[in-house]
Parts: sequence; structure tokens; C-alpha cells
Amino acid sequence: MRIILFSSRQYDSDTFVEANAAHNFQLHFQESHLDAETAVLADGFEVVCPFVNDLVDAATLERLHQGGTRLIALRSAGFNHVDLHAAQRLGIPVLRVPAYSPHAVAEHAVGLILALNRRLARAAARTREGDFSLHGLLGFDLHGKTVGVVGTGMIGRVFARIMAGFGMQVLTYDPGQPAEDLVALGARYVPLDMLLADSDVVSLHCPLVPDTYHLIDEAALNKMKRGAMLINTGRGGLVESNALVGALKSGQLGNLGLDVYEEEGGLFFEDHSNLPLQDDTLARLLMFPNVIVTAHQAFFTREAMNEIAQTTLGNVAAWESGTPRNVVTLQA
Ligand code: NAD
Repeated sequence: MRIILFSSRQYDSDTFVEANAAHNFQLHFQESHLDAETAVLADGFEVVCPFVNDLVDAATLERLHQGGTRLIALRSAGFNHVDLHAAQRLGIPVLRVPAYSPHAVAEHAVGLILALNRRLARAAARTREGDFSLHGLLGFDLHGKTVGVVGTGMIGRVFARIMAGFGMQVLTYDPGQPAEDLVALGARYVPLDMLLADSDVVSLHCPLVPDTYHLIDEAALNKMKRGAMLINTGRGGLVESNALVGALKSGQLGNLGLDVYEEEGGLFFEDHSNLPLQDDTLARLLMFPNVIVTAHQAFFTREAMNEIAQTTLGNVAAWESGTPRNVVTLQA
């Protein structure tokens, strides 16, 4: 079985080669992004393994199909970048890694909160320059404040438990079933508007689906407590990026931590440090002292990477043996 991994980097080949010891698939690591034009590179590969910013739309899938692709094995949990209708029409199953390490993403969200609140990046840059002053570094106690968790699936639940450990009040919003362990911890499920109005920190952990596209827009930002903090480690499209600049300028939004960005495709996971940044909104966001942007790295721990590689290759093996698992369905 020949598998091509698009958008792959050294860290992907390191973990996939190790995980492949249990399978012996023929792995081909391709640095290129996958789209309708680069799909030709997959000719002759039965299995295509895209990453989160690859464009697996109808045109890409049709080109892959022509080249003999029979399976899409995503090495991600999210599948918002795949046209599932087109995949179904072409008879190409789509598999994913539903869970790898919810701790990795939840802990990164907590890292963003602490770094923003205590101005850690600024403080470290300052002491390195021999400036040991404290002005501009004033933070607040998380203890006793309120955190709003939007989406209490695997990641949101781990995140909520960590924040409860800080002594924060936990408000949650999720249209699905309440998580009993969180309710037992004292978390309160409330309507989204109430969560936005009452939280000092709002953290997004829901998937990007048509219902959640621009869940946080200008109107939602105006419903938040003045000066509150927003953290997005979910997907870029959950937040209307242009609305963030105005909210930060006016002080309505006090702090912003982004691990994902609406227009991150073609930018994140790559070194653009020698090039002029073409995205004016991102350029403006990066100028605020109370904004931290990380480039979709919340998943990036050793444990998560190993689990992603093992599950992805295990998914391909299960499909090959006629017992597919972790299949993405249209209803998912
Ligand atoms: P999950 O499926 O376990 O949980 C998602 C939760 O969101 C579910 O409880 C669901 O009911 C809820 N939800 C659905 N629609 C909602 C809405 N309109 N409002 C509020 N909640 C809603 O998924 P998970 O493993 O916890 O992952 C959550 C998201 O995190 C993923 O969809 C993915 O986009 C993102 N993610 C990001 C990274 C990263 O590296 N930054 C890594 C993994 C996952």
C-alpha cells in the first residue's frame, strides 16, 4: 500500500516512519500543499494523507480519483477542509484521527492565557535586554474569575477541568449533552450570550461547521465583558478576524490569543520571515501588545504526534483489511 503525505515536514516523517514499523506501508513524504493543481503528485498512490490546511475540495478529489486514489486518511481530527459530498460521490472514504491528545490543545490554550495575562513574551524580551522594570506587565489573578468554555467535547472538558483547578468559576456552552464530570465540578451550562456577558476569559473548543462560522463576530464581541480575553485554539473561521481589530483598538477586547486564524492557509507551518506579510489584518493583530498568535501548534506535542501517526496508519490498515474505522460520515 502506497501512502503520500502532503504538507509533510521533518517532524511528520520522524513520527510516521517510527509508527510504520508496525505496518510496513510505502510512505512518501511530500512537502507540497495539496490542492487541485498539486493533486497530480499523488498519481499512483492509493492513499492520500492530507493535513489541516490542505484543500480537499471537489476539484482536488476528482483529480486524485483520476490518479487512482482510493482513500483519504486525514492526519487530523478536524475535517472542515474536505468536501465530503464530493468524496462520497467518487466513492472515496475519508478517515480521521478523532482523538489524539486533548491535553495538548487544552494545555496550549492555558499557556496562551497565562502568557497574555502575565505578559510573559514581553517580560522575557525585556529581561534579555537588561530591562528589569515592571511597568506594563500588570496581570490579574485567575483565581475567582470566570472562564467561559464554548464546546465541551474532549478538549473543552480537559480545558475546563484545568481552569477549575485554578479556582475559576466555569461557564459552559454546548448544544449537545452536558458533560456530567464538569457539572459535578460546579460548571454551569448557560446560553452563549450569558457566557459571553459573564466571562473574564472565553475559550473556543467547538468544531468549525456552518453553524459555528463566525460564531464570534462584532456583535458577539460587543456582548463580551469589556476588557475580557478571547482564546481560539479551535479553527480560524470561528472568529471574524476583521472584527477583532476594532474590538482591540477600543479596549472592548482586553487580550487575544489565537492558535488558529481564518486565513492561515499558505502561511502557517511555513517560514515567511524573509517575505512581506501580505495579510493586513494579521499584520495589524500582531502589532498589539495584548495579542499572541501561535501558528496552529496547539496539537504539537510528542504524545499527540505519536498518537496521530499510529492512529492514521492503523486506520489505513483497518480499511485495507475490510474493517474501516474512524470513517467521517456526512452526518458527523
Ligand atoms: P469534540 O468533537 O470532542 O467536541 C466538540 C464539541 O463542540 C462537542 O461537544 C459539540 O457538541 C460542541 N459543539 C458543536 N457545535 C457547537 C456550537 N455551535 N457551540 C458550542 N459547542 C458546539 O472535538 P474536540 O476534540 O474537543 O476538538 C474541538 C475542536 O478543536 C476541533 O473541532 C478542532 O477544530 C479543534 N482542534 C484544534 C487543534 C489545534 O491544534 N489548534 C487540534 C485539535 C483540534
